[in-house]
Amino acid sequence: MAKPKVAFYWAASCGGCEIAVLEIHEKLLDVAAQVEIVFWPVAIDAKYKDVEAMEDKSIDVTFFNGAIRSSENEHIAKLLRQKSKIMIAFGSCASEGCIPGLANFYTKDALMDRVFKETPSTTNEEGILPGPETQVAEGKLTLPVLWDHVWPLEDVVDVDYFIPGCSPAPVTVAKAFETILSGNLPPKGSVLGASEVALCEECPRERHDKKVKKFYRPHEIVDDGKTCLMEQGIICAGLATRGGCGHLCINANMPCRGCYGPPPRVKDQGAALLAAIASAVDSNDEEEIKQIMSEIPDIAGLCWRFSLAKCSLVNKPVAAAAQ
Ligand code: SF4
Ligand code: SF4
Repeated sequence: MAKPKVAFYWAASCGGCEIAVLEIHEKLLDVAAQVEIVFWPVAIDAKYKDVEAMEDKSIDVTFFNGAIRSSENEHIAKLLRQKSKIMIAFGSCASEGCIPGLANFYTKDALMDRVFKETPSTTNEEGILPGPETQVAEGKLTLPVLWDHVWPLEDVVDVDYFIPGCSPAPVTVAKAFETILSGNLPPKGSVLGASEVALCEECPRERHDKKVKKFYRPHEIVDDGKTCLMEQGIICAGLATRGGCGHLCINANMPCRGCYGPPPRVKDQGAALLAAIASAVDSNDEEEIKQIMSEIPDIAGLCWRFSLAKCSLVNKPVAAAAQ
């Protein structure tokens, strides 16, 4: 029987998801023996024109990591969708925008000015910005167009499954590969390789009532090593985050940041985390509550760190190509 044809792609992301594939170590050899990798720019020499020449739906599974930030990201997402039977949003950037999605707090012009004109290490007296076309003696150079907005993959193409995490933990990647190779796939839209409960349900720390008068950043307080971090005033996203990573951050005595996205039945992870923080505040006095909450630095960035591009409180343009 022919091996399933598999593609990997890296759009707007840091590349950590590519490393996550390698982190399953020797299990990767089992996976590699069972599939034929037909496109993986970071690992094999295949060009876009090779994908364009493939029959539609000839790739069995594409693992697409990264958000959609540029015309190139969008073009390849649509091309791979056309060529693939199953499209998987691999990791937090593809699933919900992740850290690149935080750019949606700013306009594209503000970002370009910051990066190419204003950073302390930049000297750009003429204020030159990279553009999509540059004429040089040898001809015209082109670059992808940076869109005004960052989208999760599902806002641009139809997505069949999601694998969460920044980056997905090895246990999640291994389970997801196992499920896919078994051919016993769950309903479309399912999250692969993770749990069906919130991280708090899997956390080994002791939990009691949460009564917090002051929130701390992890370096501002000595953690007792056993009590729920949120109870100690260290904001932990466990209540608003899907389990399945093996509580990696908690194991290292650090709070969960929320990289596995919302748990089942939670639509907006940031809103759920904000509600969890507010409900931990030990006060009925409006002014005191405002004071306690106002001391939390960058609360929007904290609560929507991974999911701003999916935030239901923000209007977003509907399609990258509309710009
Ligand atoms: S809030 Fe964090 S530390 Fe507390 S139980 Fe949940 S995951 Fe564990
Ligand atoms: S504990 Fe939270 S932030 Fe850390 S890996 Fe797990 S889901 Fe991600």
